[in-house]
Amino acid sequence: MTDCIFCSIVDGEIPNHSVYEDETVMAFLDANPLARGHTLVIPKSHHERINDLPADLATDLFAAVRDLTERVESAVDASATTVAVNNGELAGQEVPHVHVHIVPRFEGDGGRPIHALIDERPDVDDDELDALAAAIASS
Ligand code: 5GP
Ligand code: ZN
Repeated sequence: MTDCIFCSIVDGEIPNHSVYEDETVMAFLDANPLARGHTLVIPKSHHERINDLPADLATDLFAAVRDLTERVESAVDASATTVAVNNGELAGQEVPHVHVHIVPRFEGDGGRPIHALIDERPDVDDDELDALAAAIASS
């Protein structure tokens, strides 16, 4: 897609610090890292959100995420990683081309868990959990 920064990286028009590439997926270091080794894993073809990915490509992407998580941790001697996707603009996605962040975590890094994302949590009782589960299961 024209005007997509990650498509330009795939096409070799923008330099990157590549860490992995195969037929369908590539990974490179984030240019503005949250931690040493912060890596982005992307499908080579342009899809905006996880929901838009063809099933096969989602499988390829997650397989690469699995392998790279181990390799990133080992390269920077981290014992944990936060693996996350900002899926859609409202969720903080700035580059509209699917990318999975692998962020190495270190003792005392001041980072927080995914549960720190939202301060105001909804009060959801058992009945509503039932209704929500049914709605998701049947959609
Ligand atoms: P988002 O907020 O969309 O989930 O994250 C976009 C990420 O892409 C950010 O962490 C940002 O630092 C990274 N990024 C944006 N432009 C470039 C670029 O041109 N090269 C690389 N390597 N990373 C980029
Ligand atoms: Zn793109």
